[in-house]
Amino acid sequence: MSMNIGTTTVFAKKSLGVEIIEPALTPPTHKIPTLPAKPKLGSSKPKSKRRDIPEGLWTKCPKCNTMIFDKELDENLKVCPKCNHHFPITARERIHSLVETCTFEEMDADMSSVDILKFASYESKLERDRKATLLKDAVVTGLCKIGAHRVGLGVMEFGFMGGSMGSVVGEKLTRLIERSTEKGLPVIIISASGGARMQEGAFSLMQMAKTSGALAYHAQRRLPYLSILTQSDYGGVMASYASLGDLILAEPGALIGFAGPRVIKDTTQAELPPGFQTAEFLLDHGLIDAIISRREMKEQLITYLDFMGSGKKAAAS
Ligand SMILES: [Zn+2]
Repeated sequence: MSMNIGTTTVFAKKSLGVEIIEPALTPPTHKIPTLPAKPKLGSSKPKSKRRDIPEGLWTKCPKCNTMIFDKELDENLKVCPKCNHHFPITARERIHSLVETCTFEEMDADMSSVDILKFASYESKLERDRKATLLKDAVVTGLCKIGAHRVGLGVMEFGFMGGSMGSVVGEKLTRLIERSTEKGLPVIIISASGGARMQEGAFSLMQMAKTSGALAYHAQRRLPYLSILTQSDYGGVMASYASLGDLILAEPGALIGFAGPRVIKDTTQAELPPGFQTAEFLLDHGLIDAIISRREMKEQLITYLDFMGSGKKAAAS
């Protein structure tokens, strides 16, 4: 019995059809919580006299200061249950939250950047982020199913060099768009990026034209492209594929712009309105079409895809 703790689904499956030793009247549907390890008092920060809170159990919301139980936060797709603050989420977590189980067929997972300009410490930064994210570069692409729709999905990883777009990000997205065009599928790209990757110089900038060109061919076939802006989206990414969606959606509180506020203020010498680069401000000013909470994203995407595909089905029948 003890070996089954923590893997309740396996336990339930294994007990089917075999002799049941003891009736499991209420099989636990959630992972059985293990007792937290006893915090080592005074080991991490000996100078702090505050009550020790074991790390990795609670997270403080930066917006409303509520302490949230990590398990609760994970179950809520990393959205604060009190104030709806959207915490950053990894590309893998996001894919998991959107696509139907076991339908994601990843493309070009092993493609990785070359330090062609011999840019100082680029190699070591790539290595550091490969280890931290277990990805080869800042985007994950693949074909998958969302609801009943087969789509091409690209998700950027902000944790990999700020989600910056170098030659690999551009190439992977272009291949995704081209494959989707070939197969007649909608494309969804979820961006989180500081912009073009300076360590690859002009090679990064060329990705803007390449991805936009691929999207133009995709659009010629009248296939839907949905761009979703999350966390923060700036520079060359915002100036190319992220702003080319037939529908441009954003998560609440996402920061969206070309240059950062400090650069704009210094350049224009003008006073900027408060919150002018937030998704909420840009919705009011027409740059984006809707703000959708992460918790409703999947449902909404299915509704949009139903709507955008319905014209095609009507024409075919
Ligand atoms: Zn909060």
